[in-house]
Amino acid sequence: MKTLEDDPNLGHNKTEKFPCVSCHTDCCKEYVIFVNAHDVYRLSMGLGLAPENFLEIYGAKDYSLGIKVKEGLIDLALKQKNGGCEFLEETKDVFRCTVNDFKPGVCKAYPFEMKNGKLSQMSTLMCPVDWDLAEFEKMMVMHLKKDESEWIFYNELVKEWNAKHWRQKPLSAFLKFMLDKVESSLIS
Ligand code: SF4
Ligand code: SF4
Repeated sequence: MKTLEDDPNLGHNKTEKFPCVSCHTDCCKEYVIFVNAHDVYRLSMGLGLAPENFLEIYGAKDYSLGIKVKEGLIDLALKQKNGGCEFLEETKDVFRCTVNDFKPGVCKAYPFEMKNGKLSQMSTLMCPVDWDLAEFEKMMVMHLKKDESEWIFYNELVKEWNAKHWRQKPLSAFLKFMLDKVESSLIS
């Protein structure tokens, strides 16, 4: 799917420098990137790495949706490095995502959301650019719908895990359970 980084001229004045470069990709530094099962699956496949290599655990934000494992009641997010996402790379004052082809859904979506069935730019967040919504409409609406269904899939999977394995198994067992679920959903 085409995103801001795939086409730097997309959605803003083409005579200007791509805004994400001049703002130094602050969104990749300021936010903790929470991920769902499909995000982890795509990153794991794309990087050829077990999820433990790029995931960090956080105390669950929402008691009813946290993952119950031996380590506690947790959420999954990308590891951070030097005060930003560990996949953010800086060379000669240019910042880029090193996992662009398989970055999490939330990264692809930022700074857009659906509001009352219409694509909008998040109003309360940090992005300083006034993006041209019309340019993004088609691809973002499709992406946001897909992302929403992946989060629903993830929430169901966590509920199923919690009902069966209340604090008895380690995170590694949950990760295996989660990746197996995604794999079966892809072949069914
Ligand atoms: S905050 Fe906005 S302009 Fe800055 S990197 Fe993120 S999307 Fe690009
Ligand atoms: S995965 Fe890429 S786009 Fe997402 S926060 Fe990390 S560096 Fe930024």
